Amino acid sequence: MADQNQQVSRTDPTQSELQEPRLQGFECKQVLVIGLGNSGGDVAVELSLVASQETTAKQVTIIGAGMSGLTSIKCCLEEGLEPTCFERSDDIGGLWKFTVKTSGHGKTQVYKSVVTNVTKEMSCYSDFPFQEDFPNYMNQAKMLEYLRSYAKHFDLLKPPTGRRSFCASFQTTVCSVTKSPDFSASGQWEVVTEAGGKQDTAVFDVVMICTGHYLNPHLLLHPFPGINKFQGQILHSREYRHPETFQGKRVLMIGLGNTGGDIAVELSRVASWANPKLDYK
Ligand SMILES: Cc1cc2nc3c(=O)[nH]c(=O)nc-3n(C[C@H](O)[C@H](O)[C@H](O)COP(=O)(O)OP(=O)(O)OC[C@H]3O[C@@H](n4cnc5c(N)ncnc54)[C@H](O)[C@@H]3O)c2cc1C
Repeated sequence: MADQNQQVSRTDPTQSELQEPRLQGFECKQVLVIGLGNSGGDVAVELSLVASQETTAKQVTIIGAGMSGLTSIKCCLEEGLEPTCFERSDDIGGLWKFTVKTSGHGKTQVYKSVVTNVTKEMSCYSDFPFQEDFPNYMNQAKMLEYLRSYAKHFDLLKPPTGRRSFCASFQTTVCSVTKSPDFSASGQWEVVTEAGGKQDTAVFDVVMICTGHYLNPHLLLHPFPGINKFQGQILHSREYRHPETFQGKRVLMIGLGNTGGDIAVELSRVASWANPKLDYK
């Protein structure tokens, strides 16, 4: 019922309408009209000329401003929801933002030489094609450029005028999401964030988790008896940045998926020996 009332369209009042005695006293107030029959509809339309425009749009928190988080912000705005996105890094793009330094647990980044393995026609958001002059398969920088232009085109990072919330809050980590004490009635969630050493708690109607499915590496060592005695370096592909540090080394790759294949080819040009081991399990 309340939602229906909120959807009543608002037209610009004329001076004479505003001076109507029956509208006086309702100026800038929040009014809930219960019942949307003929009279309810009439009253709601008339009150919409003078009453407060403040809405009770659902507050949505989106965790992560990567590819999934960005499009979630856009969808929320389109549906009249109020999104607030928390991103632990200082930028959008998620794993497509390459940095030379690897970050700790809970942050994935692509390696420098990565090139998409899906064509640009299949990789793009359905309502935002890649630029014509972009290559069919993109490197990380082009992918990030695309995500930036998507955010800019749909104005995803600016707070729209009159909104209580803001779209993206960077260098803010979501520490926990728990049900509010009155969850059974409100369905709301308590979200604890941390930024600059300070914790904050806010309540949201909806939580969208866009933290990426490659958040933490899956480095299984126990299937390799004797691995503890190995003196060399063991690393997960997530820590791989570029081939230079492997110059002249003997490298064994375990796993030949997309990433393993990419890295094996790249290392074969600098390492003294690079062998991809097929892992059929
Ligand atoms: C090496 C590699 C190559 C790939 N190549 C392709 C490809 O060619 N084509 C393709 O379509 N897909 C590819 N992918 C898949 C890729 O996962 C998706 O393309 C897409 O980028 C995933 O976006 P996302 O927003 O879900 O996650 P991510 O890009 O991982 O973004 C998650 C975001 O959430 C933030 N975050 C996480 N936890 C928190 C928290 N607690 N609080 C606040 N923020 C948080 C992170 O900082 C990050 O910015 C590849 C993945 C990898 C690893």
